[in-house]
Amino acid sequence: MHPLSRVCPRPRKHFPESCASARLHLMEPYSSLDFFGLEQGLDEDHLMVRDAVRAWVSERFLPVVAEHFEAGTFPMDLVGEIAELGVFGANLPEEYGCAGFDNVAYGLICQELERGDSGLRSFVSVQGSLVMWPIFAYGSEEQKQRWLPALASGEKIGCFGLTEPDFGSNPGGMLTTARRDGDDWVLDGRKMWITNGTISDVAIVWARAEEGIRGFLVEADSPGFSAPEQKKKWSLRASITSELVLEDVRVPDSARLPGAEGLKAPLSCLTQARYGIAWGALGAATACFHEGLNYAKQRVVFDKPLAGFQLAQKKLADLATRITCGQLMAYELGRLKDAGEVNPDQVSMAKRNNVELSLETARVVRDMLGANGISLEYQTGRHMLNLESVFTYEGTHDIHTLAIGEALTGLPAYR
Ligand SMILES: Cc1cc2nc3c(=O)[nH]c(=O)nc-3n(C[C@H](O)[C@H](O)[C@H](O)COP(=O)(O)OP(=O)(O)OC[C@H]3O[C@@H](n4cnc5c(N)ncnc54)[C@H](O)[C@@H]3O)c2cc1C
Repeated sequence: MHPLSRVCPRPRKHFPESCASARLHLMEPYSSLDFFGLEQGLDEDHLMVRDAVRAWVSERFLPVVAEHFEAGTFPMDLVGEIAELGVFGANLPEEYGCAGFDNVAYGLICQELERGDSGLRSFVSVQGSLVMWPIFAYGSEEQKQRWLPALASGEKIGCFGLTEPDFGSNPGGMLTTARRDGDDWVLDGRKMWITNGTISDVAIVWARAEEGIRGFLVEADSPGFSAPEQKKKWSLRASITSELVLEDVRVPDSARLPGAEGLKAPLSCLTQARYGIAWGALGAATACFHEGLNYAKQRVVFDKPLAGFQLAQKKLADLATRITCGQLMAYELGRLKDAGEVNPDQVSMAKRNNVELSLETARVVRDMLGANGISLEYQTGRHMLNLESVFTYEGTHDIHTLAIGEALTGLPAYR
């Protein structure tokens, strides 16, 4: 059965009366900016995926996201519904319980999820691109059979532990170690800024062994393993971020990803996730653009709608142009990925460009909303804060600049 056919319409949640402006805004039907008619090139399956995720985000996620953002929680009660959409590991094969979508469909999913919140897209990106994909690409058949269906159905949640307190942009310096002891491995170290860590059943932990960097599937109940939550974030608040602490954690050799050798293994996972971010960021950008355009048409200043002033039109024209350039890049990237021709530098360029334009869109629209722009009854301020994290994670803006610079010149300028 097609995963999306399991999705049935659900009742629309009502806003408390006090949220009048949010209710007004969110009930307006959403249609993404598509200035060049790119969506006309989508086939029926793509449109079905896009529409199903879009409807779910509108009906089930947007009504609750602001309260989760305020509380610093992720809506765990929605995980089953997210799984029913078929979005966990959506571009992995059906034989492992996944949807088997192509990469354009996967991109559209990320775009629609991030229209809701970058925390929602992060949840799905980590589960699919950073946990399921490495198991699919580097795992044994036994690991695939055991973990992929459970992760696809949302029965199990995973996280990806690469970053450490002293090594983010340069993960090759990692201090976490994996020491061979008979048939087992003993892991020691500390990871930081790990999405979903506290709520995970399994962590993919990257550690330095004598042979080089290796990846391990560490189950959350392993003695010596803990994942305390990192609090006091003002960005990606509707997403759980954690430390991973590994103190003499013993795992069998069957928990090692046998195909993962060296730093290129975790970096290849990041390329998968960055692909999703390049699309996802456009969802945040179009959410803000839509909010800004509607607001400017309705808000009367100096006796006429804000949208009728040249300054406002210049802002909207600039944003629409940048978003359209980002969409062209994402669609082309999707086609290259489906043809098996995409390279990591192209993914770097798209991640860098599309996150930057989204952050810029959020900042400009935040301004256009005036004081309302700082209220959680509107979406743009929340997207703006989230996108600061997206600008930094999965390779900072600078690191992608250097990757493109190296691709162009042949000269690495990282050190
Ligand atoms: C909300 C959130 C969720 C995250 N989730 C995960 C996760 O699930 N798993 C995971 O492993 N990690 C995760 N991360 C970590 C993220 O990937 C790192 O924060 C990121 O790679 C940057 O590393 P850093 O924070 O150590 O910054 P640093 O590497 O210390 O960078 C600091 C500054 O220096 C600049 N810089 C670094 N190197 C150079 C250079 N060579 N030349 C010029 N400038 C340079 C950077 O661009 C940046 O501006 C997450 C981070 C956040 C904020």
